[in-house]
Amino acid sequence: MSNLRDRHAKILATIGPASSSPEMLEKLFNAGADAFRLNFSHGDYEIHKNNIKNIRALEEKVGRPITILQDLQGPKIRLGEFAEGAKHELAVGDFFVIDDEKAQGDKNRCQLPHPEILDILEKGDKVYINDGIVRMQVVEKHGRKVTCEVFEGGTISSRKGVNLPGVDLPISALTQKDWDDLAFGLENDVDWVAVSFVQKEQDILDVKEKVNGKAAVLAKIEMPNAVKRIEAIIEASDAIMVARGDLGVECPIEDVPSIQKKIIRKCRKAGKPVIVATQMLESMIENASPTRAEVSDVANATFEGADALMLSAESAAGKYPEKAVQTMHNVISRVEKSSAWHDLIHAREIPTMPNTGDAITHAAAETAYALKANVIVTFTEYGSTALRMSRQRPRRPILAVTPHMKTARRINLAWGLNCLIKPNPTSQESLSDLAISAVKDAQLEDSKEPIVLTAGLPFGVAGTTNMIRVIHTTED
Ligand code: PGA
Ligand code: MN
Repeated sequence: MSNLRDRHAKILATIGPASSSPEMLEKLFNAGADAFRLNFSHGDYEIHKNNIKNIRALEEKVGRPITILQDLQGPKIRLGEFAEGAKHELAVGDFFVIDDEKAQGDKNRCQLPHPEILDILEKGDKVYINDGIVRMQVVEKHGRKVTCEVFEGGTISSRKGVNLPGVDLPISALTQKDWDDLAFGLENDVDWVAVSFVQKEQDILDVKEKVNGKAAVLAKIEMPNAVKRIEAIIEASDAIMVARGDLGVECPIEDVPSIQKKIIRKCRKAGKPVIVATQMLESMIENASPTRAEVSDVANATFEGADALMLSAESAAGKYPEKAVQTMHNVISRVEKSSAWHDLIHAREIPTMPNTGDAITHAAAETAYALKANVIVTFTEYGSTALRMSRQRPRRPILAVTPHMKTARRINLAWGLNCLIKPNPTSQESLSDLAISAVKDAQLEDSKEPIVLTAGLPFGVAGTTNMIRVIHTTED
């Protein structure tokens, strides 16, 4: 039997108070977590540092690469302060003023401590408070005193989140806190950095400049502006997250499933990993079993061919973190064994680009299927050969062999990639031996079936996939 996971879609589990002990981290890994997300909207550096240390210790113990994703908070806009503990009920038709006065808020007004946003709001703009529960529209404006009329009522209180759907915000995707957090993350060797509230490709390019190759950079799509510019953002990013929490507030909620489908499709075409996030097993924060609708949601993302599925509060702060990961693992695994799975994943051909690397990779995946190969081995230095193979969503298992732990941790987030660390072959001739020994190390089932291998030669040059070979391990 193999010591690899018999599953293609990966599980990204957010770490928090419910899951940061070494024991719980190990339980989550054993239950199926492939990657851990550190949410920089919460926790201080000491907590994050400790989590990173514990995850690396676990990685050492289990002998398998584990991915760490740092999620930057981004420019979350918040309402100012009311009196301590005060809650105010706003009803449909009420007027409410947001302004630049420091005085504590009341039932009629409150500060919005972001003057640059008060400046650009216009009559007709929508202002949502508290995850979109309270919805109002700007009806009058005098300088930085903006009067809104409530059209969906609810409760407001201090520091509640504010969303301004469809408004082009004159803010950059990173605050000073984010830049500081990023420096901390890079110092502590995170594998991925997720940028929140991206509006345009330049937001990602700015982060990449700072990151300078030390981590891969992922764009969270949670603003209508980002959906509009999705192609350019995918091109600029190393991966994408469909961040349905904020997206469902910023856009009409009924648009979210179609946006999810569209983004997954485009990412798969581009060969960039795509993560589906938020509320996947939401009820498991409180309950030991999920709802039917949640199971369907996880299954649907698996059928769509997403690279990874994310747990948020379910694993970070819920009552059943281990059960939540287990449930996600069980649902994905079951879907991947259903006869409909591959047909649905390949329902619409993802056209390959007309270049050598893509053509070779496509041929290797098809050859592996035709020969019922035991496994596809990809030798990959910086990950591009492996990601290319992952993009094919092949019908045979993939073993990605790399000399670099950093590469392994990074591409471990991508669909179907089982990663193994091995030094590069010293010659073309030693490739086959190395592939055979990698298959042994992975403890894949002994099989008479051949191994199909792909690589980019010469080694050490990124993106040169140009070789395919079929190895028969037993004599006929
Ligand atoms: P968050 O991002 O959990 O950091 O808000 C995910 C989302 O908005 O869905
Ligand atoms: Mn968000």
